[in-house]
Amino acid sequence: MRMSVLASGSKGNSAVIASSRTRILVDAGLSCRELMKRMHQAGEDPGKLDAILITHEHADHVSGLPVLARRLNIPVYFTEATHRAWVRQMTPKHTISYKQWLEQQRREKQERLEAQALAHQFATGVATDELPDDHFFASTTLPEQPQDRFTEVSPDATTNPEMALAAAAEDDLCDDTPRSVKEGVRENPSFLPIVEYFQAGRHLCIGDIDITPFTIPHDATDPCGFVFASEGLRIGFATDLGYMPPNVKLALKNCDVLLLESNHDLEMLRDGPYPWSVKQRVLSRVGPLSNDAAADFLLRDYDGGAAYVVLAHLSESNNHPELARRAAEAAVGDRLRLLGNRILLAPQAEPMESLCL
Ligand SMILES: [Zn+2]
Repeated sequence: MRMSVLASGSKGNSAVIASSRTRILVDAGLSCRELMKRMHQAGEDPGKLDAILITHEHADHVSGLPVLARRLNIPVYFTEATHRAWVRQMTPKHTISYKQWLEQQRREKQERLEAQALAHQFATGVATDELPDDHFFASTTLPEQPQDRFTEVSPDATTNPEMALAAAAEDDLCDDTPRSVKEGVRENPSFLPIVEYFQAGRHLCIGDIDITPFTIPHDATDPCGFVFASEGLRIGFATDLGYMPPNVKLALKNCDVLLLESNHDLEMLRDGPYPWSVKQRVLSRVGPLSNDAAADFLLRDYDGGAAYVVLAHLSESNNHPELARRAAEAAVGDRLRLLGNRILLAPQAEPMESLCL
């Protein structure tokens, strides 16, 4: 098996997991162009990907998804709840002001009355202009319109991020994109060529890779971690989790490679630039995992079977790679039989060297 981490961190996450016959992209949190570039840098051929698997709908895991999936014309695997949340995220929101709503109501009412008037004319032979002025239109006069109290959100690609994404997606469709895909995108910005659903706790197979998705505690709709198994080897994948609940500890047993979140140093977070509300979110049980929590797992619960422990999703504002490494190495170093474990760091700005097992 092979694992190529293309990017890891709050600016985007993506990795390729491959057996000799199957290649899966886990998350697509960079632009399509950047993902293609990094796959080439890592020696992965995007044209040979079999599927895209999504952990959860946060932007740093899906920002390049629609364009890439359409371009490669390959299936995307989500849980059903995550897919629905992603579609909602992608659907342009048309919000109108109160003033516009009143005007729309007035127009609709007027159209209804005109239709009635026409029907009356056909039925009786009396033209509406022969009737007294107030016969049909008396109630169409609006009371004085109040001040516009609502902010209008323009359905315009320059101000609406979802629409900007959809517009970018259309721009990115290349000449060899199938016509059915191009038409699908125009009608629906969340259009994907093939969507498949999986459920946490239920095995699924993509080619010859067996995947066990497991639920993780995170503030997304239905977030999952994964264990990938093929050719007698296992790769565990656990990022974006507030703490390590028993089901995650159990799922990560007997892994040959363990990709584990080590997001922040608690002191750097406390003294760092984030507003208090964001600090609270990071520290909560549905935020990301701290260096200390990752080290605590390695010290107390990890079975020590992995040749590589890859520390991932490091915060650029609230962590330093050496602090994350030191915390993990101290935990592993306290357990003699774990000395064979190599601690690696997954970078944000470039692909990590591929791990081949
Ligand atoms: Zn997330």
